[in-house]
Amino acid sequence: MKNTLTIVVPCYNEQEVLPETVKELGDILEKLVDKNVITPKSKILFVNDGSKDKTWKLISKYTKEHNYVTGLKFSRNYGHQNALLAGMSVAVNYSDIIITIDADLQDDVNIIPKMIEKYNEGYDVVYGVRNSRKTDTFFKRRTALAFYSLMKKLGVNLVPDSADYRLLSKRATEGLLAFKERNLFLRGMVPLVGYSSTKVYYARKERFAGESKYPLSKMLHFALNGITSFSIAPIHLILYLGLLTVAISIICMVYVIIEKCLGHVVSGWSSLMISIWLLGGIQLISISVIGEYIGKIFSEVKHRPRFTIEEENYTRKMKD
Ligand code: UDP
Ligand code: MG
Repeated sequence: MKNTLTIVVPCYNEQEVLPETVKELGDILEKLVDKNVITPKSKILFVNDGSKDKTWKLISKYTKEHNYVTGLKFSRNYGHQNALLAGMSVAVNYSDIIITIDADLQDDVNIIPKMIEKYNEGYDVVYGVRNSRKTDTFFKRRTALAFYSLMKKLGVNLVPDSADYRLLSKRATEGLLAFKERNLFLRGMVPLVGYSSTKVYYARKERFAGESKYPLSKMLHFALNGITSFSIAPIHLILYLGLLTVAISIICMVYVIIEKCLGHVVSGWSSLMISIWLLGGIQLISISVIGEYIGKIFSEVKHRPRFTIEEENYTRKMKD
């Protein structure tokens, strides 16, 4: 049975790589259509995430040149995760299979046929997993490793070394879209959708052109969002810290009372200062973590739209 595939590609200032991306993904798509693996209605859907360069111009140009290229334009930059979700929510109505992939060609497009094979074997979710992190800097490798092990300790189910390169069936996509949260961390959400899943391994390459759109600040924010969106373990940690502090202070109290009874009272300026600083620090950390969650509640209860689509030609092309 043939299925319709849509490849969703988020793009933020990707004018340097886009021509090559269209070429490589287009080749794969055409080959799969020729081999009768997917229907000729299959498409590439570029989601322009408020790019400031010529990305949307290029997408519009390719939309006219190739029938299989479609585009969707955000009214501003909403971020990678929202771009992926928007692409999926538009594509799900007309596709049996959705593959998401970054625009920069770091992920090997040649495993797409293998992913579809796995889908045909009955898997609803196929993760693209990198088999090495050689192309990463030492720093990124270490931090990624630390992040995955921390998440595991916090009880969050992630597929290590899989980013947002994956295949989802129609029903898995619908399941994912039913998650109504605003703070998106898709790689944590996909395993929660369930269904049968498998992995396909590939070697991740260097970015084809341009530079990373994920500077350290965005990466840290993303990691923090992943933790606080998926786990309340930090709150428990504070509870334990508080209990420990109370226990220590009880011991101190006993000690102080004994000292007082024995008449060894010393005016302990230094210990006083230390406790003030220590307690002050603990309180500040606690307040900031609680604040983090209140911030989440704040943004969730507002139920703001996750994105606004300014322009979209996918639906029209699919209806033709
Ligand atoms: N991206 C996006 N919006 C953003 C930042 C990034 O749509 O605000 C896209 C970007 O165009 C790329 C993908 O997300 O297709 C991953 O970004 P990048 O390759 O720069 O991240 P890295 O691989 O360096 O982690
Ligand atoms: Mg990249």
